[in-house]
Amino acid sequence: MIKRVLVLGGTGEARDLATRLAGRPGLEVVSSLAGRTSDPVRPPGRTRVGGFGGPAGLAAWLHGERIDAVIDATHPFAAAMTAAAVAATAERGTPLLVLRRPGWTAGPGDDWRRVPSLAAAAAGLPGERVLLTVGRGGVRAFAGDQRRWFLIRSVETPEPPLPPRAEVVTARGPFAVAAELALMGRHAVDVVVTRDSGGTMTAAKLTAARRRGLPVVMVDRPPAPDSPTVATTGEAITWLERRWATMGWSGSDTNTDTDGG
Ligand code: NAP
Repeated sequence: MIKRVLVLGGTGEARDLATRLAGRPGLEVVSSLAGRTSDPVRPPGRTRVGGFGGPAGLAAWLHGERIDAVIDATHPFAAAMTAAAVAATAERGTPLLVLRRPGWTAGPGDDWRRVPSLAAAAAGLPGERVLLTVGRGGVRAFAGDQRRWFLIRSVETPEPPLPPRAEVVTARGPFAVAAELALMGRHAVDVVVTRDSGGTMTAAKLTAARRRGLPVVMVDRPPAPDSPTVATTGEAITWLERRWATMGWSGSDTNTDTDGG
């Protein structure tokens, strides 16, 4: 009997997981993407694109596709998808694992100001020239700021409304420290606003901010679900292996994580 795993994706971790599980005997991985980005990097294996229609839609989909386990490897700020995964798997009795890369932690020399939300970030911004990296949907929280100048960076063009004094740069990580230093210098950035996404792909801006002595306004993650959670793709593979120890496929490559989970 083939075991079917749904990987809720849109992250490097999800792609990595699907890549590492591809070709395992007795296992079919279905990767799900929201369809937000116009040119997504597709993982190997079967993919589906687009929302499920809320928790009820996802529960029906899990039933229809005879899914045996779900791994929620969505972005730490994709709270609606995670909530739907928790509700739908509870309804169906389907095992759920959350794969979440750890958040960032400040080190010596960092001047981070943690805030609970984008609204709180917008309400108490230090500085006048802001590097804003809060995802394309997060920019609207800053739209009412008439005074400051924003350099808005996101993978896709940000959703309006935008602040009146803004320049948009579309770019996809990974970013290098030297390039981040140059970007901040060129635009005379004096504060960085970001969400606590974690991982190495976009962490260079934090190093660059420290080197330039800039404050970083760090938006905290939404609350994590009360579900089994791991930090790396290797641990997720081990979780699957333990569930299906009799399937005969091995997770012996669990030490090859290179992206910090
Ligand atoms: P969200 O607010 O939690 O999700 C909104 C709705 O989008 C969900 O209710 C669901 O629609 C659909 N959806 C989200 N992720 C999906 C997935 N992997 N497969 C199928 N449908 C999905 O999510 P978001 O913050 O917009 O993120 C969307 C996607 O982009 C996620 O896959 C996430 O991993 C990725 N991503 C997000 C961020 C970010 O900053 N939030 C950054 C990088 C990548 P239905 O209710 O119709 O099922």
